[in-house]
Amino acid sequence: MIVGIDLGTTHSLIGYYSPDGPRLIPNALGSVLTPSVVAIDDQKRLLVGEAARDKLAIEPACGAGTFKRFMGTDRQILIGNQAYRAEELSAMVLRALVTDAEAHLGTPIKEAVISVPAYFSDAQRKATRAAGELAGLKVERLINEPTAAALAYGLQEKKDEATFLVFDLGGGTFDVSILEVFDGVMQVHATCGDNHLGGEDFLQALLEDVCSQWNLRLQDLPASLRAQLASRVERAKRQLSLSASATIEMKIEGRDLTWNIDEPHFAKIVDPLIQRLRQPIERALRDARLDPQQLDEIVLVGGASRMPLVSRLVARMLGRLPLRHINPDEAVAVGAAVAAGMKARDERLEEVVLTDVSPYTLGVATARLESTGRQAGGYFAPLIERNSTVPVSRVERFWPLTDMQTELRLEVYQGESPMVANNIRLGQLLLKLPPRPVQENPVDVRFTYDVNGVLQVEVSVISTGERHELFLEQNPGTLSQTEIAARFAALSAIKTHPREDLANIALMARAERLYAEHLGDARRYVQDLLARYLEVLESQNLQMIARARQQLISALDEFEGSNH
Ligand code: AMP
Repeated sequence: MIVGIDLGTTHSLIGYYSPDGPRLIPNALGSVLTPSVVAIDDQKRLLVGEAARDKLAIEPACGAGTFKRFMGTDRQILIGNQAYRAEELSAMVLRALVTDAEAHLGTPIKEAVISVPAYFSDAQRKATRAAGELAGLKVERLINEPTAAALAYGLQEKKDEATFLVFDLGGGTFDVSILEVFDGVMQVHATCGDNHLGGEDFLQALLEDVCSQWNLRLQDLPASLRAQLASRVERAKRQLSLSASATIEMKIEGRDLTWNIDEPHFAKIVDPLIQRLRQPIERALRDARLDPQQLDEIVLVGGASRMPLVSRLVARMLGRLPLRHINPDEAVAVGAAVAAGMKARDERLEEVVLTDVSPYTLGVATARLESTGRQAGGYFAPLIERNSTVPVSRVERFWPLTDMQTELRLEVYQGESPMVANNIRLGQLLLKLPPRPVQENPVDVRFTYDVNGVLQVEVSVISTGERHELFLEQNPGTLSQTEIAARFAALSAIKTHPREDLANIALMARAERLYAEHLGDARRYVQDLLARYLEVLESQNLQMIARARQQLISALDEFEGSNH
């Protein structure tokens, strides 16, 4: 059984290709959305999802969220006094999803297709693969998120021929893809985006606004208050997607504070972010050589695309209303489940062919001969242009700078600037050359970019026939196989709770969060509810516990609904 996983910045989902088509799998709490948050609780056990998120709201140091942003970097994230890398935390989320899927399907799961933002770099993709390995999974394929969304959409719509644009604004990343479907073939024509733009940036902008109106410095607040404020502002942000204004009231350092926000003010403070959405759309259209009127449909994906300001910008730029009938939170995971079905060679998907593109230009650093005869370095020589259909392999011949040069440094970059200094350096290869005149000493550089978006660089020294391969793994953002093995052992030693306890643990964490967020009568009410529930738990009567749990959930839903 191969599963499809959407490993999102704020939420993750898992699905599979069932006899009735793609299906998402609910977690132990019955939800298909599992918050991408991990925490270690008082019993030193791992919590993932809802319970971890609620625990973090009152005790931020005991866990972490939004770590997808640090994939492909060597950033250490502290939980208690233990430091983890983003791929380890992602592995914990993956493991929780797989445990849910195994319980649901009643079969062990060892293989997965995982979605990644189309604009993820080589290091970020490798980190995602490493996260899969750390979770004990063989990552069969990495699929680009907008491509996955389009796959879900294309199959659902069963259109024979259509060109559409997928606009995917998630928690931390932004991708735009333009695809064409004809006769079961789905071809991605262009993908552009921004790796560091998403719903979390809108949250940050709102937080800064609250703090400036309340004359507070966010970093001066105790961590628990900061987390509480962030969770209220997040709710206000979502409220603004439904109504014209939102309000937050909080007591901080003895002051009763109120913050009101309406749509025009929201539009003003997030305008710089909204403007950043423009360029990738324009670039994708240009690369696909299409005018907006040649698009048949516009599909919005990712939770943050629910903001009316965002959909209005898209509608204005493209001259039509985007489609809304596809669930923006689920589309990528449904597509990943379809891709898992394709990987498993499900016969109903045999007719479906999917082609994707490379999101970046990839090339090497070169020198140019100036008119004065001087050699000037630092220029970018592309080998694979962005939006080339993958898999792609290109070869280019280069010569050393001087006669009798015995060493050649080949530096690999990705990016769109003519100067390598403005692009991202992926790695380098130092080659020995035989001492010969420049013209007799060429090297052939071959770049191969596979369907998973992983680059391989091969260099041949023509005069000697020697070949070298560049593994871009020495990058500090990427774990080596030995490190993965060591960390796999350490992660496997972390204890988890039995699955049947998870719903209870999450419920208690939620009640504790609500208690911490309120004062006076409100918190006493939550405490009473909690005490009554704990009493029933003591009884060990499963039927009574199940009933009491439902009652507590309804009471907390009602409480939360009326207190915000
Ligand atoms: P992801 O889980 O990566 O798709 O992204 C979720 C992002 O969507 C988070 O930043 C959420 O704050 C944001 N989001 C989800 N629902 C809404 C909503 N109703 N209005 C505004 N933003 C939302």
